[in-house]
Amino acid sequence: MTALTVPPGWSQDGLFADGVGAGLLRADLGPGVVAGFTTRHGGVSPAPWSSLNLGANTRDDGARVRENRSRLGAWLGAPVAFTSQVHGDGVLVLGQAERAEWLSDAPPVAAGEADAAVTAAVGFGLGVLVADCVPVLLADPAARVIGVAHAGRAGVRLGVVHRVVDAMVAAGAATEQLRAAVGPAVCGRCYEVPAAMRDDVAAVVPAAHGTTRAGTPSLDLPAAVLAQLAASGVHEVVHVGRCTLEDPDLFSHRRATAAGSLTGRQAGVILLT
Ligand SMILES: [Zn+2]
Repeated sequence: MTALTVPPGWSQDGLFADGVGAGLLRADLGPGVVAGFTTRHGGVSPAPWSSLNLGANTRDDGARVRENRSRLGAWLGAPVAFTSQVHGDGVLVLGQAERAEWLSDAPPVAAGEADAAVTAAVGFGLGVLVADCVPVLLADPAARVIGVAHAGRAGVRLGVVHRVVDAMVAAGAATEQLRAAVGPAVCGRCYEVPAAMRDDVAAVVPAAHGTTRAGTPSLDLPAAVLAQLAASGVHEVVHVGRCTLEDPDLFSHRRATAAGSLTGRQAGVILLT
C-alpha cells in the first residue's frame, strides 16, 4: 500500500492503520464536531472486501461487518447509525430513541430507508456508505446540528443535498453557518455513461455534465454536489478530491464490477461531541 495523499484542509488519522499510518481522512467541520471518511484499511474482512468493509449488503459475512462497524464506533467514541440507502431523497431525523437502539448490544443494521440523516443528539454518529457515489457530511457547529447524505446519480438528480440542508435548517441550523465535507467518489474523468443519461442529469444539474479521458460522455457527480451545496447557500466546503475508481485504497463498485468481482463500502462519518 502506498502512502495516502492528504489534500489541504485534511488530516490523516492513523487509528485504523494496518501499521503504516493510513486509514481515515479527517475533515475539520468546526468545534465539537468529529468528521471523516474511511478508506479500505483497518478492518477484518478478507478479499474482495478487504478490509474495512462497512456495508451490510455486500455478501460479506455479517459478523465481520459488525466488527468493522464496532471498530469505527470505537474510533469515533460513539455508535454510528447507518440508513438503508435507496437512491432517493428522503431524510431521516434521528434522536435519543434511535441513539439508545444503536447503543444496545444488538444494534440495528439500518435505521430505516433514506439517503440522508440528521441529528442534534450528542454522542450519536451518523454514517453514509459509498463505493463510487458521493458521501456528504454537514455540520452547523454553532447550532449543534449534523447531517449526512448519499449522492449518487439518482440522488444528485433528485436533489438529496438540498433536502438534507432543508432538514438541518428545520432542526435549528442556519444555512450561513453550515460547513460541509465532500468525500471520495468516482470522478468525472472516469464515470462514463450513455449520452442520454448524461443529458438527463445535466438538464437538472448542469455541473454534472462531464467528459471522460477518452472523450466519451460522463457524469461529474462531485462537481454536481459542490454546485448543489453552493446553490443551497453552503459555502464553507472541503472536498477530498480522490477518485474511488482510480485509488486502490478505496472501494469502487464500478472497478469491482468491471473485474467481475465484489466490493465493500467505505463510510463518511460525523459526530457531535
Ligand atoms: Zn477518476
